[in-house]
Amino acid sequence: MKKTINCLDLKEQHSKIKNEIFEAFEKVYSKTAFSGGPFVQEFENNFAKFIGADYAVAVSSGTTALHLSMLALGIGNGDEVIMPANTFIATPWGPSHAGAVPVFVDCDPKTWQIDVNKIEEAINPNTKAVIGVHLYGQPFDLDKVKSICDKYNLFLIEDAAQAHGAKYKEKTVGSFGEMACYSFYPGKNLGACGEGGGITTNRNDLKEHLHSLRNHGSKERYFHDEIGYNYRMGGLEGASLNIKLKYIEVWNKKRQEVAKRYLTEINNSRIQMQFQPEWAKSVFHLFVVIADNKTEFENHLKENGINPAYHYPVPCHLQKAYSNLNYKKGDFPNSEYLAENCISLPMYAELKTKDVTKVIKVVNSF
Ligand SMILES: *Cc1c(COP(=O)(O)O)cnc(C)c1O
Repeated sequence: MKKTINCLDLKEQHSKIKNEIFEAFEKVYSKTAFSGGPFVQEFENNFAKFIGADYAVAVSSGTTALHLSMLALGIGNGDEVIMPANTFIATPWGPSHAGAVPVFVDCDPKTWQIDVNKIEEAINPNTKAVIGVHLYGQPFDLDKVKSICDKYNLFLIEDAAQAHGAKYKEKTVGSFGEMACYSFYPGKNLGACGEGGGITTNRNDLKEHLHSLRNHGSKERYFHDEIGYNYRMGGLEGASLNIKLKYIEVWNKKRQEVAKRYLTEINNSRIQMQFQPEWAKSVFHLFVVIADNKTEFENHLKENGINPAYHYPVPCHLQKAYSNLNYKKGDFPNSEYLAENCISLPMYAELKTKDVTKVIKVVNSF
């Protein structure tokens, strides 16, 4: 049988570090530190250092991180939060779960990041925040978005779920705004053996509030000062993340090497790649391309043993879940074009050199 190359394969990475991870699990087990506890705290300290933020707060997923970021800032009913239309659906879940309304804007046709020239027209007196997304691992233009937020007195939240360790103008993303939200879903650049998420911030008051919110609104046991949630991270997840954090820079570097080959060796005028500005050091969570004929291209890949994926085929404003917001097709042409034509090529740290060569050959022969 012919071998197929998938977009993502977690097996090799996990078999390499299995012994180390199992030793860590052993420690969690013997301490029965299954919910929060010392292993999660250790991860929080190490992750904050890695990002260069004062604090990291571990939670149960990227989605709950986004939800809590809204609550910690007091964003709720009647408030509006601006974000790109072309993101994973969990970005708008953040404000929606808090009772606020996501307001979408289109993306730039080259970088596919939030179009900074479209943000101001979406601002009104109800606007409280902008969630920028470091899409596919590439930082969005933080200085520009931040200056708009400062001008209109809005909070800036980074959705860094795809960008652990990415750099904007030489500085690691994750401490440019009020907070940054991460996912440690297994398929992310830094993924737990299980579900997980986190928030980084430089503000002590927000850190304290997040600690309470994730733990039933409680600062002192038996006393609940506000309606809270059970959004803690598990001990096994924390321990696995602690091990994996040691390797993230090596893994990101490998992804960057694969991306460098794609970017220099793919030269097919029917294929468009995400434009990489010189100030953006992407960690290439995904390598998405646009083909001039999606169906033809996906068939070409499949016939040649490459299994394509799609990130994301339906933009947020056209999802049924948001039909009440009354967006329509044509509202955000760049996001819609990307959604209709995007195909993700294989991208992960353990991808073999010969497989990268094969992908490049197949893409160029389309
Ligand atoms: C994965 C992801 C999330 C959500 O994270 P989960 O851990 O799956 O809840 C949020 N935003 C973006 C951009 C993501 O890619």
